[in-house]
Amino acid sequence: MQRFFENEIDHELRRQMLAYGERHDLQTGLLNYVAFQDSLAALMRNTVPGREIALVWIEVLNLRREFALWGSRGAEALITRVCEALRAAVDPGALIGRYSARCFLVALEAEHFDNRERRRIQAIMDALAPMQVLGTRSMIEVAAGVAFWPADTVSSEDLVRFASLAASRAAYIRSSTVLAFRSGMNHTLMRDHQLETEMVRGMAQKQFRIVYQPKVEAATGRVLGAEALIRWNHLDWGAVTPSEFIPIAERSDLIQLILEFTMSTALKDVRQWAQHGVSLPLLAINVSWANMRRNDFLRSMRRLLDENPVDGTQVELEVTESVLFDDEDLFAARVRQLKSMGLRIAIDDFGTRYTGFNVLKRLPLDAMKIDRCFIHGVHRTEEARSLCQTIVAMARQLKLRSVAEGVEQRAELDAIREVGCDAMQGFLIQAPVSAARMADFLREWPESARRAELFDSTDKKPGSRILNMPARV
Ligand code: C2E
Ligand code: MG
Ligand code: MG
Repeated sequence: MQRFFENEIDHELRRQMLAYGERHDLQTGLLNYVAFQDSLAALMRNTVPGREIALVWIEVLNLRREFALWGSRGAEALITRVCEALRAAVDPGALIGRYSARCFLVALEAEHFDNRERRRIQAIMDALAPMQVLGTRSMIEVAAGVAFWPADTVSSEDLVRFASLAASRAAYIRSSTVLAFRSGMNHTLMRDHQLETEMVRGMAQKQFRIVYQPKVEAATGRVLGAEALIRWNHLDWGAVTPSEFIPIAERSDLIQLILEFTMSTALKDVRQWAQHGVSLPLLAINVSWANMRRNDFLRSMRRLLDENPVDGTQVELEVTESVLFDDEDLFAARVRQLKSMGLRIAIDDFGTRYTGFNVLKRLPLDAMKIDRCFIHGVHRTEEARSLCQTIVAMARQLKLRSVAEGVEQRAELDAIREVGCDAMQGFLIQAPVSAARMADFLREWPESARRAELFDSTDKKPGSRILNMPARV
């Protein structure tokens, strides 16, 4: 008999534990996602009309790093700490759940989420963010997004989704930020997703092509090289600019496809030009940090160069200045490895992020491209001229070739020449053109430059259109 009861208790306990496990996260005891959704839907049904609900999605940003540093014990300590702090920071009756390993959900109710009520949400973050984790002594790093019911949506599922969207934006900005959902975020997400799928299709359907823009020496007009720029002509949308699709491509492997396409197409074009007697001293390729930081980056560069050998043309990689702020050490290592492969490196869009002399001094760079915004109207004010002069002086001090980007007017060319800028690129000389038109440009440029009277000393002798690069170029 005794044994029968023991079995019954055992059975009942097991049933209850299983039922509990179905609705709870066993590590923290919080509601799991399914149970949270049920409770949220019930809360919406039972909330007195006129009252509002704020759904907060809290994302722990340093969970993966904690795991990498300390293993599962460190990750568990971090989650336990977040959970304790969350429980302490919200009212006892508030709904708290765990969506995934690093995401927590909190539902708060109020008469109306005015500024004072919104501060309650920020207070949760303020309670979490300065905390240290016991044992590892790491700081908790969190970002949060919030969506409001019924203002943003009346669906419980969308409420969670919208808060998660806002949280991913907040995480992008910086730790301990809370962002409220805006309807534009949903639209942006959908558009990004659509762009990504269309890009894959576009690649397969050969909607992408490469155009070239020449770089010339500022003093003489000699052609120093050309920059390869990608173009996308979508069947229905028409031209989509690189500024729209490159940032999306950078979030996935698509950026690797773009690099491979740009580089192999450009190297093939250079070889074709050479077969027709037109040589290009320098081919510039834009490379994203999303390419460079990959483990297989150097291997893929080597493969691309091996598969598309060119004689007599150096390849320069243009990398935007912002990479220096992402991971300076990794960037420095990559630059050294690329240099040992015979490649040249230029800092693109210089001046937009205020990189200091000391950072640049440590890197074996070759060129500095001065961002368009410093060139536009450079001749108009003494201040603009002087700023440009300082950048050029800095480049010279660092033994880098200075290149002015986006020169559109004769007066801008005169100004950059006066301040000693080495080279230039821009619509004044040539807008980006197809490979065939680039070959024509290389053939005809000395004559057209003479006619345009842009340069005093452009070499006019036949056969010497493209001269050797000067020592520093
Ligand atoms: P960037 O490397 O700074 O390229 C220069 C941009 O300025 C190009 O825009 C070019 O068309 C434009 N431009 C040239 N001259 C002038 C001018 O006189 N006036 C004005 N207003 N603009 C001028 P584009 O082709 O739209 O490219 C924008 C950016 O997209 C590039 O900036 C580069 O960062 C990126 N990009 C382009 N192609 C590729 C690529 O194949 N791979 C990667 N990763 N990025 C690329
Ligand atoms: Mg560039
Ligand atoms: Mg640029």
